[in-house]
Amino acid sequence: MAETSIDSLKGTLAQKRASAEAQGQAVRALKASGASPSEVESAVNSLKALKVEVEALSKELNSRVSENGGGNRDDFRQGVVNALERRLFYIPSFKIYRGVAGLYDYGPPGCAVKSNVLAFWREHFVLEENMLEVDCPCVTPEVVLKASGHVDKFTDLMVKDEKTGTCYRADHLLKDFCKDKLEKDLTLPEEKAMEYKRVMATLDDLSGKELGSKLKEYGIVAPDTKNPLSDPYPFNLMFATSIGPSGLSPGYMRPETAQGIFVNFKDLYYYNGNKLPFAAAQIGQAFRNEISPRQGLLRVREFTLAEIEHFVDPDDKSHPKFKDVSNLEFFMYPRDEQKEAKPFKKLQLGDAVKKGNINNETLGYFIGRTYLFLTSLGIDKERLRFRQHMANEMAHYAADCWDAEIESSYGWIECVGIADRSAYDLRAHTEKSGVQLVAQEKFAEPREVEKLVITPSKKEVGLVFKGNQKKVIEALEAMKEAKAMEVRANLEAKGEVEFFVCTLGQSVTLTKNMVSISKEKKKEHQKVFIPSVIEPSFGIGRIIYCLFEHSFYTRPSKAGDEQCNVFRFPPLVAPIKCTVFPLIQKSEYEEVAKLISKALTRARISHKIDITGTSIGKRYARTDELGVPFAITVDSSNSVTVRERDSKDQVRVSVDEVASVVKDVTDGDSTWTDILSRYPLHSSYSSDEGVLIGDIHSKS
Ligand code: AMP
Repeated sequence: MAETSIDSLKGTLAQKRASAEAQGQAVRALKASGASPSEVESAVNSLKALKVEVEALSKELNSRVSENGGGNRDDFRQGVVNALERRLFYIPSFKIYRGVAGLYDYGPPGCAVKSNVLAFWREHFVLEENMLEVDCPCVTPEVVLKASGHVDKFTDLMVKDEKTGTCYRADHLLKDFCKDKLEKDLTLPEEKAMEYKRVMATLDDLSGKELGSKLKEYGIVAPDTKNPLSDPYPFNLMFATSIGPSGLSPGYMRPETAQGIFVNFKDLYYYNGNKLPFAAAQIGQAFRNEISPRQGLLRVREFTLAEIEHFVDPDDKSHPKFKDVSNLEFFMYPRDEQKEAKPFKKLQLGDAVKKGNINNETLGYFIGRTYLFLTSLGIDKERLRFRQHMANEMAHYAADCWDAEIESSYGWIECVGIADRSAYDLRAHTEKSGVQLVAQEKFAEPREVEKLVITPSKKEVGLVFKGNQKKVIEALEAMKEAKAMEVRANLEAKGEVEFFVCTLGQSVTLTKNMVSISKEKKKEHQKVFIPSVIEPSFGIGRIIYCLFEHSFYTRPSKAGDEQCNVFRFPPLVAPIKCTVFPLIQKSEYEEVAKLISKALTRARISHKIDITGTSIGKRYARTDELGVPFAITVDSSNSVTVRERDSKDQVRVSVDEVASVVKDVTDGDSTWTDILSRYPLHSSYSSDEGVLIGDIHSKS
């Protein structure tokens, strides 16, 4: 894990630098105190030794950084992207018109991978938890997104190249600047390094003004032209539209799928028998007019989201199936560890919830299930971590939030956000729509509760405040318990009190006859509350791109004269499960290939026949580059060979059996090792001549 070793190297270097600094001070103190020459000499020698270590570590770090941040990572990415584009996994959209930044098409194998990922997502989440799946429109009326806060707050701060008008995200420019300094400038003094780290950690907190002054302070200019930049200003990321021909009904392309679920809460709750907890799910397109899309498929303007909204009683966030995942151990990065710049490490999920690192069991459950989902797809568990949001990254209403981050050639990328959003969304839509998006819990036995009762006297308030009567009464009724008790105490002691009415923007004088405030004991038969929501949100495109990188490798061709590309997709996600080749162009073999194809179709195994005259080696290389896990080669009328992509091992299987063998191993009912033990091993074909050079022998 290159990033981690760089991180730990940086940590060691920082420690050594600190020791060298402390030793320097010790030398100065010894000299000042008139210590003996031998004492001073020994301290100076220790200092010299530390300086040598610092220098060696700096050199090592320098070479590692250029290895990982420079050439190798870029070359690796270029290799992956070339293979993906050549084999049409994805295509820049509208390519013949020179394309549009941030928009991509999935080609045939990409579509197949995406549909496999989504099918598995449905199986792993929707089916497993009996979730209620919905499918809502992408075009959304303004009122919905006004209530959710997107119209006012879904913005990024943007700066413009003052001469060319090119737009950039202001925080990205500042982050890139600091990152570059920290990674490449190894002579950076410790205080400057600390300052850049602090800036990076607090980017989300900076106002437009603060961001602007930092850009100026660091002399940051437009990266492409070096022209000066404008001051930052907010840019709303939603694509605006209008619904209907009049142009009077504003709307937006949805920036997330979640709102469709929230606005349907009342019906879904009813559908679920008025019971909590339950989860609803939605897969669909989301649209964000990113200021400067970059990083290929990772930051795009239209993408597929798969979102879950799990509604739960805020007083009970336990999860009955938490024990199924509590023993999992994987990389987690709690916020306290981040604050102290410690490296992330493996933690047990059960411990993380018990110690309060993760706020509650339900959130922990979804973190565990997400880990299982991603690793089953083929994401490398050594390059997957769950990072907790720092307090400043989280929305003010969120109780806790963790991102599943996957390491790619672009660094650590947020691919799934898992947040406890408390009751924010349902409350916001309740307030805006006037429809109560609440749940009820009937008690087995009535419970006695003490309730605050505020009864304003409309007559007395009206007499004194006339036109402002309504605003004063609303403010009185909205008082929280502490405030109400304070008002009551003052009224009782002094007979009147100054009371601030925010909708009037001023205080009024209340007298005792205007309001009665008391606490009364009441029997309650049920509680009515706004549920909390736990939201795992999966960026499908990001997951797929990371999967492409984690699955890609190259190996020499049989002749050793070129490097061949391979995607080691597990059968679950492979775009095609199997290819069928007649070894040579012979009608008898082609007939057998067609028979096998029919049997594979009946078994619902996606496959492809290749009857071109190309050499078998080239045909294998073609399927390896598509990540096809198995290849059937027809070299006789009775039996065929089945080759596994990564080991290149082949077994001989009868024509009648082959479809069911491939089905077993692609469905996960057997492993390739099982197949190797059951069927005779076959030695390989010559890659160039396309003829059989091996003989058949039994493995045992
Ligand atoms: P958010 O609602 O911003 O937390 O985003 C939810 C998920 O959507 C993230 O975890 C990403 O995986 C994905 N995502 C967000 N923005 C983009 C984008 N511009 N392009 C691709 N995926 C994105």
